[in-house]
Parts: sequence; structure tokens; C-alpha cells
Amino acid sequence: MSALLELRNVSRSFGGIHAIRNVSLTLQPGQIVGLIGPNGAGKSTLVNIITGVHPATSGTIVHKGERIDRLKPFQISARGIARTFQVVQPFPSMTVIQNVMAGAMFAANIRSMDEARSVAMEHLTFTGLAAMADRPAEQLTLANRKRLELAKSLAMNPHILMLDEVNAGLNTSEVEQALDLIRAIAARGISIVIIEHLLKVVTGLCSRIIVLHHGELIADDPAADVIKDPRVIEAYLGS
Ligand code: ADP
Ligand code: MG
Repeated sequence: MSALLELRNVSRSFGGIHAIRNVSLTLQPGQIVGLIGPNGAGKSTLVNIITGVHPATSGTIVHKGERIDRLKPFQISARGIARTFQVVQPFPSMTVIQNVMAGAMFAANIRSMDEARSVAMEHLTFTGLAAMADRPAEQLTLANRKRLELAKSLAMNPHILMLDEVNAGLNTSEVEQALDLIRAIAARGISIVIIEHLLKVVTGLCSRIIVLHHGELIADDPAADVIKDPRVIEAYLGS
């Protein structure tokens, strides 16, 4: 199978900090991949590199056979690569549905506000937020703000979705519900990269797990192998 997304020897530094060092990986269509590592390992930076927010200092990124590492963030999202932010950032005074409509406006095939509204409502129904459509986004609980982030990203009609710590701050039952929603998104054929601080959250969800430590890729293996990998255990114990 040819890769949907391929990173070759990607690095990114900020001043003297090597946030990502020489990372190579591929993403295949329809996979749910876990990206884990201790705080400061470079997980969010890797998402920022892929989405063009903080472009790679060196290395190449190929999406569907074309290089995307010099494209602007809006060009990359227009290609169907979406992400959620670790710190959720809804437009607070806008309603829930207006937030999702803003996401839908990025999708090229939306032609009118009515269409944006009906597309947004579909995503709110799918993410369980339909009843809250007309509330100001700032009134939502954290768990629902995270759902709103998912609905906004889905409205951009992505085929790759990177979720940066969507479970952080949620209680056990909220995490279970969020994982069910992520499975439902993957069942639509969207490739998912789920970024998590904790390994245990992703082992039940991901067939494959990538581990970053100090900006380096130290494992890219099936979940069953990663949980036994001495280098992974050491990275976490030392953090
Ligand atoms: P993680 O998401 O795994 O916790 P990050 O990608 O946020 O890690 O950070 C990796 C390293 O890069 C850290 O040392 C962090 O301080 C640094 N870093 C990330 N973004 C920036 C930035 N915009 N400017 C300077 N340093 C940054
Ligand atoms: Mg992070």
C-alpha cells in the first residue's frame, strides 16, 4: 500500500532547542495511530510541522505523492489534513453551530450559509452536540468543548485528522465516550493520529504506536510491542 503521508528525516529547532530530530514515518489510509511521549517530547511540534504552523527546519513531507512541506497552513488544511488543538480555542462569543459553520466554510464545496448550517448540524448531531447548537460556545463543559473541536475539524472534511490531547482533563467516563467517538470517526475512513501523554489511553484504540522522546522517534510498532519496549518504559520513568 502506498503511504498517504510520509515524513522523511524531518527536524525542527526553535533557537537552540531541537524539538524534533530526524523523524521519519508513514501514515497509511484508514489507520488509527497513537503518538505518545513524555511532556516536551515534541508531539505537538510534530503536528505543527505537518500542518505548516511551524514548518520543518529540514526534511520533506509527502502527501498523496506531492511535497507539502513548503505549503501554508490553509493550503495544507484544504488538502484534507486537519487537527484539533491541545488547548481548545472556540470562538467564545459565537454559538456552537456558528463555530462549526466557520470550519465548514473552509471546505471548498460549501456554496451558501444555508448549506454551511446544514452541514454543521450534521456534524453536531454526529458529535452529540445538536441540542446545544444555539448556545454560546463559552458555556460548554470542557468535554463538550473538545467535542466541538472535533465537530469543527470534521466540518473541514478531512481524510487525515490529528487529535492533540483530546482526552486531557476529562474524567474516566468522558474519556470512554470520547474514544467511542474517535472510533466512529475512523469508521468513516478518516485516518487518525491520536496524540496522548499517557500510553494506556491509546493501547486499546491503536494498532500502531509511535513514541517520541526528546524529539526523537524511539519506537514505531504494534501496541503490544510498545508497552513492553524497555526504551519506552525508560523514557517514561525518566520523565
Ligand atoms: P509535547 O507536545 O510532546 O509536550 P512540544 O512539541 O510542545 O512537546 O515541545 C517540544 C519542545 O519544543 C519543548 O522543549 C518546547 O519547549 C519546545 N517548543 C515547542 N514549541 C515551541 C515554540 N513555538 N517556541 C519555542 N520552543 C518551542
Ligand atoms: Mg503537546
